Amino acid sequence: MDRALVLFSGGQDSTTCLAWALDRFATVETVGFDYRQRHRVELEVRPRLLEAIRTGFPAWGQRLSEDHLLDLGVLGQVSETSLTRDMAIVAEQGGLPNTFVPGRNLLFLTLAAALAYRRGARHLVIGVCETDYSGYPDCRAATMSAMEQALNLGMEAEFEIHAPLMRVDKAGTWAMAAALGGAPLVELIRDETHSCYRGDRSHRHPWGVGCGDCPACALRANGWKAWEGRP
Ligand code: ZN
Repeated sequence: MDRALVLFSGGQDSTTCLAWALDRFATVETVGFDYRQRHRVELEVRPRLLEAIRTGFPAWGQRLSEDHLLDLGVLGQVSETSLTRDMAIVAEQGGLPNTFVPGRNLLFLTLAAALAYRRGARHLVIGVCETDYSGYPDCRAATMSAMEQALNLGMEAEFEIHAPLMRVDKAGTWAMAAALGGAPLVELIRDETHSCYRGDRSHRHPWGVGCGDCPACALRANGWKAWEGRP
């Protein structure tokens, strides 16, 4: 049993990955990033989720260690995307939506590894997925494998990057939460995690809270419907 650091944004995917890590590793730390995202409300749901896990899942609570919040304002400064500027969400030439923040996961992983180096954590856990999520290139398995190699070469380390959702669709992510923590975890993720790109926390739906029509809400709603509809 080892020490892990989970990249924890406060969304459905990273919260499911946190449960996955708490199920496997003796000590689990979390890290979040403030990159001036428009949906900064996700930074407010993080501590509430961590507290709910501590109180609602005592066995996991014992393994859940420090949380870190890193300032990555420079990412908002260099990128012009609909996640970091007040712009409409549209598809760019080449098919990627302008919600893609170039370099985001590369920077996240580099900083997480630097932090994990200091904290003595060998396992990095990230909620990336290549089956949905608009085809972001920094969510693909090939990128993760290259990053793992670069981090280990550049830091002379033996990090392992775990992406438990890599080939899991959104319905499968709900199923994974149910398998790991039963109905209480599904309810916690449904009610308290944040996915909406617009930062909407005022509209409640069967699948959670959000505007209901941004790409992140649509993905989450479709996944919920597909999971609920399973026999
Ligand atoms: Zn939304």
